[in-house]
Amino acid sequence: MASIAHNLAAVRERIAIAAKRSERDASKIKLVAVSKTMPASAIREAFEVGQRSFGENYAQELSAKAQELADLPIEWHFIGHLQRNKAKLMAPTASYIETVDSAELAEAIDRRAIQKIKCLIEVNVAGEASKSGVAPNEVSTLVKKMLSLANIELCGLMTIPPYDPDPEKSRHSFKELRKLRDAICAELKIVEQLRDLSMGMSHDLEVAIEEGATIVRVGTAIFGGRA
Ligand SMILES: *Cc1c(COP(=O)(O)O)cnc(C)c1O
Repeated sequence: MASIAHNLAAVRERIAIAAKRSERDASKIKLVAVSKTMPASAIREAFEVGQRSFGENYAQELSAKAQELADLPIEWHFIGHLQRNKAKLMAPTASYIETVDSAELAEAIDRRAIQKIKCLIEVNVAGEASKSGVAPNEVSTLVKKMLSLANIELCGLMTIPPYDPDPEKSRHSFKELRKLRDAICAELKIVEQLRDLSMGMSHDLEVAIEEGATIVRVGTAIFGGRA
C-alpha cells in the first residue's frame, strides 16, 4: 500500500491542479485530513510531512486522539453529528466544529467554550431524510442566531452531498451551497462570517474546488480504506 506521505502529496497535487484550472489560489484551500478510525500513529505520520488539520466525526474519538497527540499542535475539526451534551467534550479540543445544525447546539457550544470556537453550519442541501444538517431555508435564521453568540466565530457553511461515485453528481449540491451562502451574505450584509465553504471529499474534491470550496475533507485518499 502507498505510504501516507505519498498519498498526501498526491492529494495536494490534485488540489493544486483543480485550483489552477479554476484560477484560484491553492494556498486558500484548507485540506482537512479525515482520520476517523485511523490510529494516532497514522496522524503522526501525516503530521511529519506537514499536515496540520485533521477531522474526526466522533467526539470521544477526537478527544482520545487529541490527548494521545497532545505534543503536536494539531488543528482539530469536528465533522460528525454533535450531540448537545458532547459540546463540553469538544470545547477545549476542537478548533473547528463544522457541523452545527441547530440553535440549541450553537448555544451549548457557546456556553461550554473556553475560547472562541470556529463554527460552520451543516446544510442538508439535497433534503435527504437520512442526513443531519439544516434545511436551506432555515440557514439564515441560524446564521443570525450564531452571530449573536460571543464565543462562536461563524466561518461558513458545510455540506455532504448524496453519495454517488461519479463526482459530477456532486456538482449541483456544491453550487447550491455557494448560491445559498451568497444569498445570505447579501441578505444580512455580511461577508467574512461566511467565507468558508467546506465541501468535497476523496472522490469529488476537484468538483468542489471548481465550485468554490475553501475546505476539503479527505480521508480515504490519504489514509486508505476504512474497515
Ligand atoms: C468520512 C468523512 C469524510 C471523508 O470521506 P472520504 O471519502 O474518505 O474522503 C469527509 N467528510 C465527512 C463529514 C466524513 O464523515
